Amino acid sequence: MALLDHFGQPAVRQQLDTILSGGRLPHAILMYGEPGSGILPGAISLANDILCTSPQQGKACRNCPSCNRAAKNIHPDLHFLLPLAGAKSLTEEFLGPWREAISTNPWLDVFQWTQFCEVEGKQVDIHKEDIQHVTADLSLQAFEGGNKVLVIWMAQFLAREGNRLLKMIEEPPEQTYFILVTNQREQVLPTIRSRCMQLYFPPMEQDEILRLLVEEYKVDRNAAPLIARQSVNNMGRAFSLAHNTMMNFKDEMASWFRAIIARKGHELGSWSTKMGSQEKEEQKQFALYSIAFVRNILWALSARDHADFPVEGNEMIKYLHQHYDPQAWHPVIQCLQSGYEKISRNANTKLLWLAMSVSIKNQLAAYRLQHINS
Ligand SMILES: [Zn+2]
Repeated sequence: MALLDHFGQPAVRQQLDTILSGGRLPHAILMYGEPGSGILPGAISLANDILCTSPQQGKACRNCPSCNRAAKNIHPDLHFLLPLAGAKSLTEEFLGPWREAISTNPWLDVFQWTQFCEVEGKQVDIHKEDIQHVTADLSLQAFEGGNKVLVIWMAQFLAREGNRLLKMIEEPPEQTYFILVTNQREQVLPTIRSRCMQLYFPPMEQDEILRLLVEEYKVDRNAAPLIARQSVNNMGRAFSLAHNTMMNFKDEMASWFRAIIARKGHELGSWSTKMGSQEKEEQKQFALYSIAFVRNILWALSARDHADFPVEGNEMIKYLHQHYDPQAWHPVIQCLQSGYEKISRNANTKLLWLAMSVSIKNQLAAYRLQHINS
């Protein structure tokens, strides 16, 4: 499986190779970085290296029975600890859906995971019982007699319960490795962090995203560059865009801007009410989508080679590009970015969307090009 060798972070992979070939892999590793930077595929790749029974320079051979099982995430000594809804839920009970989720979309975020489990909107956590269950499992002999790995996905959800793992991380059972994955390193207990080797995943390079889209997901070579640009260094977003799961925002985006351009207060009001009643996570996704959308208008403005211009299916970008002064867009992006940050904090997002709509409406009214009548 190519993804195990190339998860979009060549520098991180290189770092791992050096550590593995020197036989200097510590027992606890914290992998952290931005959402969509490939941390989970990176963690799974490393877990495979650890579980391989005939490693080459410390790296997985990709050939032995262990590697075959690990590649399918069905290796009995590959354990997971996951954020789940319901205080009594055990990761063990969700291994089926989890394997299916990550083999479909290894770039998934917590919201997508909750969607996958059909508990979206519910509070998820890594629970006390689950930690006890998994640590008891880990203290047993490995099934295959070799190494054992525990991948803790979204370790920030451990919160204070992380203390329960502390002792085990400090004095791990023999041949046991912990890989903690997080987008919020600061939320992981400092006592845990300080015992881990920390490995940073930077936002993914656009070229890497493009390569993954074309080589791993067989996305059309003509469509891939636009998706890579729109993803704003987030492979999870690129994956979703490529699979059309986010493309439905395109219509939403067009209807928002139609209302803004028409400058009709009641339309903006009803649009904002509708958007503000979506799940918070979806509102954040839409805000991100809209930032990428406006960046595309600017990009269209600066592109000399219009052959690559994303006109197809994107009449709205073309229209905005032609009818507004380029200066209009930077403040719009700022407005959307600050909106994005406020959504998770702001209880009343309906009002927030309305305020953003009015602010963008006024901004655009001031920068409409006068020489065009349409
Ligand atoms: Zn192997």
